[in-house]
Amino acid sequence: RVKQDGRNGLRFYAPDMQKNSERALSLATALKNAMVNGELALAFQPQLDLQQGSVTGAEALLRWQHPEWGFVSPGEFIPLAEQNGLIVNIGWWIVDRVLEQLNRLQQSGFENIVIAINVSAVQLAQPDFVARLQQRVAASGVPASRLELELTETVAMLNPEHTGEQLATLSAAGFRISIDDFGTGYSSMSYLKRFSVNKLKIDKSFIDDITDNHEDKAIVNAIIQMAKSLGMSTIAEGVETEAQLTRLRNKGCDAIQGYWFSRPLFEADFHAFIKSRH
Ligand code: C2E
Ligand code: MG
Ligand code: MG
Ligand code: MG
Repeated sequence: RVKQDGRNGLRFYAPDMQKNSERALSLATALKNAMVNGELALAFQPQLDLQQGSVTGAEALLRWQHPEWGFVSPGEFIPLAEQNGLIVNIGWWIVDRVLEQLNRLQQSGFENIVIAINVSAVQLAQPDFVARLQQRVAASGVPASRLELELTETVAMLNPEHTGEQLATLSAAGFRISIDDFGTGYSSMSYLKRFSVNKLKIDKSFIDDITDNHEDKAIVNAIIQMAKSLGMSTIAEGVETEAQLTRLRNKGCDAIQGYWFSRPLFEADFHAFIKSRH
């Protein structure tokens, strides 16, 4: 019976699976030209500091608008770019755009905004990643302290010894380091202690039901307390309601990011937003 179900299941799903892999192949091919064709752009999602009540930073999020297929989600194309290695070149393109953005913000009088970029395992595995990043930042004239690097726990733990050394070098150079989607991966507390991490980004999945769910409340409180005792700050991601924000503020969370405060914005809207909140 099980076998029969399995076979039926397989037959039933096969055309779908083929369609999915065809789409993946087309996307991966098209992505090769996306950069030169000007189809990629960065959106910036403002982050609210709950103590100061002001925008202190933003996360850069990649956007791909394909001429035929329209908007393609980074959740779909980033894994493909990681598989075929394109993420390395795209990653440097992102670094350069963010450095330009930081220079423009500085010219507009926002010298304290920090921009966070997401770093993939494939990027971090490049032997010259740290050196190249330092070179580019030095050439841009932007202080390293205005750039934040987001790594997921999974990425950080793939090769903890090597990552630890990379993070120590980056941290000594002034870069900020945060752990993205914190709580959803597997990170060892002993590494977390030794890593030069400034900030934990509490994953959205713990925030969604934080006003009702007892376990989520307990987990978020524990993360905030642990971060405090380790000298790290916390930011909650995916905050969509005022009730979530109030709870987080009362529990001592340092900052929030999410639709309640702002969606990710393209440059002009992003600048207008921070001006209006200044
Ligand atoms: P992430 O780094 O955890 O980014 C947060 C995601 O949550 C973003 O989705 C953002 O738009 C979304 N988000 C923010 N606030 C809310 C909210 O209040 N409600 C809901 N429902 N969603 C919210 P996005 O832009 O689709 O990115 C998805 C993932 O793709 C990112 O997760 C990150 O892992 C990856 N990604 C995006 N841009 C880049 C990039 O430039 N480089 C790399 N390596 N990965 C990227
Ligand atoms: Mg992120
Ligand atoms: Mg995140
Ligand atoms: Mg996430």
